[in-house]
Amino acid sequence: MISHDDHLARILAAAPAPRVERLAVSGGSLLGRVLAADVRSAVELPAFTNSAMDGYAVHSADVNEPCELPVVGDIAAGDTRSLSCEPGSTWRIMTGAPMPEGADAVVPVELTDGGVERVRFEAAATPGNHIRHAGEDVRVGDLLLPRGTHVAPHHVAVLASSGVTQVDVVARPRVVVVSTGDELRAAGSELAHGQIHDSNGPMLAALVEAAGAQLVEQAHLPDDARAVSDLLERVVESADVVITTGGVSAGAFDVVKEALIEAGDVTFDKVAMQPGKPQGFGLLGERRVPVFTLPGNPMSTLVSFHVFVLPTLDAIGGRPPRECERAVVERGWTSPPGRAQFARVAVRRDDSGRLVIHPNSRQGSHHLGELAEANALALVPADVDVVQADDELDIQMLLTKE
Ligand code: AMP
Ligand code: MG
Repeated sequence: MISHDDHLARILAAAPAPRVERLAVSGGSLLGRVLAADVRSAVELPAFTNSAMDGYAVHSADVNEPCELPVVGDIAAGDTRSLSCEPGSTWRIMTGAPMPEGADAVVPVELTDGGVERVRFEAAATPGNHIRHAGEDVRVGDLLLPRGTHVAPHHVAVLASSGVTQVDVVARPRVVVVSTGDELRAAGSELAHGQIHDSNGPMLAALVEAAGAQLVEQAHLPDDARAVSDLLERVVESADVVITTGGVSAGAFDVVKEALIEAGDVTFDKVAMQPGKPQGFGLLGERRVPVFTLPGNPMSTLVSFHVFVLPTLDAIGGRPPRECERAVVERGWTSPPGRAQFARVAVRRDDSGRLVIHPNSRQGSHHLGELAEANALALVPADVDVVQADDELDIQMLLTKE
């Protein structure tokens, strides 16, 4: 048996480099994507010196005590004229409107009588007040967003303000999910005795989306090596990652293993973990597409996805590794000797702010009735057989919506 760390290290070493694609800034498709390159500004912001208030543009030297000046006219936001302000006069100006040449202050309308032909100023003007200077916020060449930024709505504002229309992002890995098993029927189908609903397929489809990757196909195949080979041969033409479940343990109908051993370059291992012992990983076809063959028990699939597939999708998707936290055990449990256990647990903050672990009471690889209460996996190291209250363990949060 190999450790889950060694198995993951082998997978990550074989994972392909991220692909880059170009996306439009407008339209919302950039949200949640990862920038593949630094974005620098080609412009300065503000692009022109403008008023920060609705008021009057003046020579501050003209307004050093309450006084009156003639109003030359109005400058609205969007006014494209090149205007100047002669000493002894003023322009009525709106927020965002370009400052007329010569004026060095704006007096807010609230400090005047609001006159249109002539205006009375109630207080002295201060040089520089209420002016936004060209380039004070962003200069040409400034770093707007660094490579690796996970684009949020406020980042879109930075790009749009700077006139950027397209950016390079890391392509979302295109993932194909395949459930195998003669006993499986799609959710909603009537079941004959001995049949079960396919839960791994829908769960993996949701996990792929929650990981920020792109589900391109979800298939169910019978236990037939030919059907498995045919499907894999087709999907490796365009997929970036393939995930299968079932058919990799020691049963007589473990056909995924059979099909892939023929295809070559896929290794099947016993990994010292519970759940999730039988694992396969390899690279398929000319494009060397990573394929994960996960064991079929639903909790084995859930754990295997978080431990092996998610870090790989993150790497291919240009995302940093997910953070792992420590939490304190409230009530102990036993763990299989010689294997790391990934226990389903609920992690909550107690009144003193500590993260506390409450395990699901059933940890079999087919038990899912208590999952509503679980929000994390707790890692019990291989050399620990009995987890005790007050022990500290690493936890990994279960994926939720991206
Ligand atoms: P296998 O890995 O094919 O030997 O399957 C192990 C166990 O997981 C069996 O009880 C299967 O019925 C069950 N199983 C396999 N695939 C699925 C699936 N897609 N959804 C739910 N249970 C499954
Ligand atoms: Mg099976």
